[in-house]
Amino acid sequence: VAASRTRSRRTKLGRLAAAVSVLALAACSGPASLQRVEFRPPVVDVTASDSPSPSPTPSPSASPTRSPASPPRSIADYLAMLPTFPPAPAPIAVDLPHAAGRAAWISRIPTSQPVAFLTIDDGAVKSPAAIALMRAAGIPVTLFLTTNIISDNKPYFAQLQDLGAVIEDHTISHPELINLDYAHQRNELCHSADLLGSWYGRRPVIFRPPYGDKNDDTLRAAWDCGLKAGFFWKETVDKGKVRYQTALHKVQPGDIILMHFRPAFADDFVAALKAIKDAGLTPALLEDYVLIN
Ligand SMILES: [Zn+2]
Repeated sequence: VAASRTRSRRTKLGRLAAAVSVLALAACSGPASLQRVEFRPPVVDVTASDSPSPSPTPSPSASPTRSPASPPRSIADYLAMLPTFPPAPAPIAVDLPHAAGRAAWISRIPTSQPVAFLTIDDGAVKSPAAIALMRAAGIPVTLFLTTNIISDNKPYFAQLQDLGAVIEDHTISHPELINLDYAHQRNELCHSADLLGSWYGRRPVIFRPPYGDKNDDTLRAAWDCGLKAGFFWKETVDKGKVRYQTALHKVQPGDIILMHFRPAFADDFVAALKAIKDAGLTPALLEDYVLIN
């Protein structure tokens, strides 16, 4: 059954692979602070040889008759690259510390269970390839979505929700929140939570501030909006490459991994799952591990 489903998807998805590689959308433009910043979407030069390969080094055995640029991978190629995982353990929620009247602030769930958490932000590039990959992978993910960025195609994310993705808050307009006063921060967080709740039937309970930047007003505003915890990350994935925030260079139990809906979604998604697999971990749902008292 799986094979025939894969084949039936292939004709549609083959065309989409090329489309995905040329899509670019500047969702994360804004003031940059180094190191802690959420990665901006790359400026894609569609005339350049855009290699979707996550491999950092070219194959030495490449045929000399082959074009210098590797042909783009098809969706079937990416589907074949998806690692498989053992079932995630029964989740044990973790009581996250937070100050009174403030949301918790977390970059890693303090758990010893062999799990990691994949989070996908913004919602700029809405590729059918992402739906195919998430359907095939069958893993839980949390989507931090910006309402202005997704409002042109809300059903796209409903499809992902139907596949098990949980939609959480990433503001209305993706501002640098720390440049806003409490009232404006609160509006960005509350209004987007309300919209997402009305669009998808579930009001978000956690959030990620754009660029991962927050101050005390952010945590107060989030709490006042019913958002119990904000999430930073331990790894980011961009253009098929996993970047670690710690010197361990290995995903640790409880780590939160950040990627985006970008042109290289397929490369990033496969790279993230391989990094989780290589660490001996299994993707689990972030919301299952969050307990706030
Ligand atoms: Zn973002």
